[in-house]
Formats: sequence, C-alpha cells, structure tokens
Amino acid sequence: VNAGALPVYDDIPDELRDTIEDALFQRVGDATERLTELAERYRGTESVRTEDLSWREAPARERVVHALIKGLDDWVEEDVEEVRLGSERAIHVIEGPLMDGMNRVGDLFGAGKMFLPQVVKSARVMKKAVAHLIPHIERETEADRAAGIQAERDDGKGTVVLATVKGDVHDIGKNIVGVVLQCNGYRVVDLGVMVPADRILSAAREEGAHVIGLSGLITPSLDEMVHVAGEMEREGFSLPLLIGGATTSRTHTAVKIEERYSGPTLHVDDASRAVGVISSLLSRREAPAFIARTREEYAGIRERHRGRRDRSPLLPLEEARRNRFPVDWGVYTPERPAAPGRHVFMEEDLTRLRGFIDWTPFFQSWELRGTYPEILSDSEVGETARSLFRDAEELLDRMTGEGWLTARGAALLAPANAVGDDIELYHDESREQVRARIHTLRQQFAKRAREGEFRPNLALADFVAPRETGIPDWAGAFAVTAGIGLEAVTARFDREHDDFRSILARALADRLAEAYAEFLHQRVRRELWGYAGEEALSNDELISERYRGIRPAPGYPACPDHSEKRTLMELVGADELGIRLTESCAMLPTASVSGWYLGHPDSFYFGVGRVGWDQLADYAHRRGITEEEAERWLRPNLDDREVARG
Ligand code: SAH
Repeated sequence: VNAGALPVYDDIPDELRDTIEDALFQRVGDATERLTELAERYRGTESVRTEDLSWREAPARERVVHALIKGLDDWVEEDVEEVRLGSERAIHVIEGPLMDGMNRVGDLFGAGKMFLPQVVKSARVMKKAVAHLIPHIERETEADRAAGIQAERDDGKGTVVLATVKGDVHDIGKNIVGVVLQCNGYRVVDLGVMVPADRILSAAREEGAHVIGLSGLITPSLDEMVHVAGEMEREGFSLPLLIGGATTSRTHTAVKIEERYSGPTLHVDDASRAVGVISSLLSRREAPAFIARTREEYAGIRERHRGRRDRSPLLPLEEARRNRFPVDWGVYTPERPAAPGRHVFMEEDLTRLRGFIDWTPFFQSWELRGTYPEILSDSEVGETARSLFRDAEELLDRMTGEGWLTARGAALLAPANAVGDDIELYHDESREQVRARIHTLRQQFAKRAREGEFRPNLALADFVAPRETGIPDWAGAFAVTAGIGLEAVTARFDREHDDFRSILARALADRLAEAYAEFLHQRVRRELWGYAGEEALSNDELISERYRGIRPAPGYPACPDHSEKRTLMELVGADELGIRLTESCAMLPTASVSGWYLGHPDSFYFGVGRVGWDQLADYAHRRGITEEEAERWLRPNLDDREVARG
C-alpha cells in the first residue's frame, strides 16, 4: 500500500469499497471472486495525476511568479531567460518577478497558508533562477566596473550569519531556517556545522552581519553557546543573537546566555517564527519596543527560575539509593544470549529497513504537526503532507535502490552485573575481568508518594542484577548508521541548488538510522539475545515500544551524559563502522543512533532530572574524572553552583 496515494475513504466508489471490505473482513463467502471480477473492470484504467498546464499560456513574468509560489522548477531556467531577454539588466529579473514571487510566498507562509516543505521548494526555484542569472549579472557588473561604476553588495533586508556551534552537527533545522530567511529577502551566510566561536565572530564581521543565529542539538552545545555569547561581549559586539535547536530553551537562553551578552538575545526554535523575530529586530520602528519587551519577559523567566530552584530540595544520594527500584531478583532468571559477543553488519539491506521507519518525526522535522498516517488526510496540512510523503518515497527509492547510502551497525551482548550505580560489563562468563563500566545516574528529587504507593528513585543500574545476587545477568550496546555516503548525496543536491532534496535526503537518512536501531533491537530480542523469540509486533507496536527491554541512549533523559558514548563506541567498535564522535560527543555521520540494551521485563525509560552535588562528586570519582569535567557534561542536570553550595 502506498499510503501517500491513499484516497479519502468516502471518495471510494460504494461498490468497490463494499467489496473490498467484504474481502478484508470476510463478510461473505464469495468476496474473493467478486473482488477479482470487479478488478477486471479497473484493468487498464490507470489513474494519473494530471497536471494543469494552463499557466504555461501566461506571459513569462507571471509564469515565473507562479512557478515560485507553486515550487515548480521544471521550466524555471527557460522562463527566467525569457524575462531576462526582455529586461534591461539581469538584476532586474531578481528585483522584479523573483522578489514579487518570494514576497508572496513569505506572506502566505506568514499567514499559515503555506507550510515549510512548500517554502523550501519555492526557495529551490528561486535558487535555480538566480544561478541562471548570475553569469549575466557578473558580466554586467564587469562592464560597469570597466565604465567606472562601483557596484554595492546587496544585503537584501539584512545579513544573517548562521552556524551550528563547535562540537555539534545539527543541520536540518538550521538549513530550513536559512532557506526560509532567504525566501524572505535576507542574505544568509551559513557557516555549516561544528563552527568554533572565533570563526563565527570573524565571519560576522567580514560579512557585515546584522544578526547571528546559533544552533545546537545536544546538551554540551548549551555551554558552547554561552561561550560564544561571552566572546561576543568581550569583542564588543552589539548585534542580536538568536538561539535555536532541539536542546535549547527560552529558560536556558534567559538564565545562562542573555546574562553573558548585552546585545539583544532571543530564543527562536521555530523556522516559521524566525522571520517575524528578525524583521522586528531589524525594523528601526519596532525594534526598541520589541527588544524591551523580550528583556522584560526573560527577566521574569529568570526570576521564576530562581524561585523554583529553592522550592524543591533533593534527597541525599545515599537516601535516594536506599529508595532504588525494587526488583525481586529471587524470581528472575536472565536469559543467556543465544549469540553473546560482538556482531558487526557492514552492509545492511536498506530496503528492509524502510519497513521499520517511524514517519511521524519525519513530518515534525518539516514542522508539520500530526501523527502518521492520519496526517496524510489532515484537513489542514494533509495535502502538503501527502505531497512531501510522495517526494520522500521517490527519493527513498533512489537512495535505497541505487546504492547512494550504506547502512552499518554493530551490537554487543556481554555478561553484566550492577555494582552500586554502575553496570559492569565483563570479558567473559567467569565475570572476573571488567571490560567496561556504564556509569548510571540516579534520580534524587523527593517524590511525593501518596498513601500505599511507592515511588522509587530510579537509575538504569536498577534493571541489572546486582553482583552480590550471584545472578548471571547480561547487557548490551549498539551503534548503527545510515549516513555513509550521505555527504556526497547532499553535496550533489547543493551543487544543483536543490535545497529541498538536500534537506530531504538528510531527514530520510535520519529516519533510516532510527529504523535500523528499531530493526536491530528486534533482531537482538528475537535472535541474538533471544529472550523474545516469539515476538511478532507490527511496526506501530514497535514504535510504541510494546516489547520487552529498552535501548536507552546516552544523552537522553535516563542517561544524560553524552560522554558515556565514548565507552559505548569503543565497545561496539564504532571505528570499523565509520562512526566517530565530535569533542562534544555528537555522532558523525549525523544519521547515526546508539544506545545500551537492557533486557529486564520491568525496565522502562525515565528521566534522571536534577542531581545533587553529592552525586556529582560521587559520579566524577567513579568515572575517574575531575568534578569540573563531570560538571561540564552534567550541567543541564545540575543546580547553579552558587545557589547549591551557598
Ligand atoms: N521511533 C522513534 C524512535 C526514537 S525515540 C524515531 O524513529 O525517531 C526513542 C528512543 O529514544 C528510544 O529507543 C531510546 O533509545 C531513546 N530514549 C527515549 N527516551 C529515553 C530516555 N528517557 N532515556 C534514554 N533514552 C531514551
């Protein structure tokens, strides 16, 4: 079934619908015969999406505007050429119909009548048009220069320098923001990913930036953003600083970043909001009031944040430990894996992985809200979602069918026991030599349990049999990637000025990596560990995690320390797979997923939440790192030092 081509249920002719239902639900005995008979009648009637080409009759200028608004790039070069031939100068084509079209796109998007995927397609038309015009513009500027006329750089409505901070590789969201800003007439200088502070600042200076936008996906980037803000202050910058990306928040921006930098500092996590915010910031009339309002709002957030901290004390670590998750180890016998050890898959079949894709986050990455597959028939975004899904399937066909990407993965299953809050993995079943330690963190917030209800203070180690029980338990680790080859794919699309497919390819590779994690986990449960040999879950059931065991990922709420990925990568042999970590422990290629395997039937995901300074010291000691180092990795889970220690 191609869900992208699903018709609206009520639009299916009655007779056909009834017959199909008869067959599906076995309502009548001869349903099959009747369906085959009926199918005969549909033979040869292929339903084709007929394109309305009447717009091709309009004058070239109008065709260009139409193509921009509809995101149609098939004729753009010839249409633009036609307009150019009728214009005095090539630049006039940009200033005229192209800007007209993009303004309309901006307005429609602002009014909620157009959605991100459409805007990005419009941007592609714009880019192709501009690429066609550039040689002509350069020739004309050359002639001007020869005639002594100086050209000015065109900054449009203003220049925005965008960067994903050092150590981080977050890209999709930032690219989308860049495209949307360009559509709205801003000049965007995208510095890419893993950009150190000094490069951001020197680029801002050289490019005459009006705004700097920082993006980040993982928690260590929060500190890096604070650092960039501090550097901007030190170097006397005063231009607006925008903060965005999955790990960022208004609270963090208000509490940690704004206090470091005296220029306007704002959190903008939505591509659709970025345009409004930047236009307010750069408008001489609106800016003062807008900035004042934001400052006031952020001061309020800081105030409330301080208040909240004081209200909720933490339990001492020892008390939290006594309140650990209760498992009756006397009645539990862990299954010995059918295939212990390390398993490496150097070329996983991508077509097989497709069936494991969870599509809902895909639509989210394009800011289309809703659950798949219902989103395809949503009254508001359904049409856009269907069209995006068609494009996605088309590109996936090529990515998986033509060998553009390679998926690799590895899983390790090892003898394991809990020792305190650590999980020890052993070299062999004698369990004498420790191969690696997973250091887990324990919840310390005081839980208000109602009468007769027990609310434990959880740590992942609670789900593994303590060493003193003598029970031979097991645990595992995995890493997968679907991103080998992706950079070449996106580079090619970028060269073709095809932002849309470049972003789409990234989003799809991410999906394939998550699908691979799901697929490999299933194989582990059914075969390699084998504790759920009979498991037969649908993809929906896999997505809603109806299986036994979990695969917590370092950097996520149950194990928030990203640097534990270093141990994990070592264990699974990530080098061999071509996966590496940045200094902030983001994985490269970006389309990679990793985690631990825990198999206990009662295991589940939770959030560690705030941890105390007693646990920080204990954790640093267990890991053999300094408290400062531990503090760096656990910052989002810690109270501000002055307050906690003061
Ligand atoms: N189907 C989703 C799966 C990713 S989110 C997708 O395709 O995007 C779910 C994964 O996030 C889990 O498998 C686990 O690896 C991680 N995760 C979720 N909550 C977690 C938590 N509280 N602690 C640790 N890892 C967590």
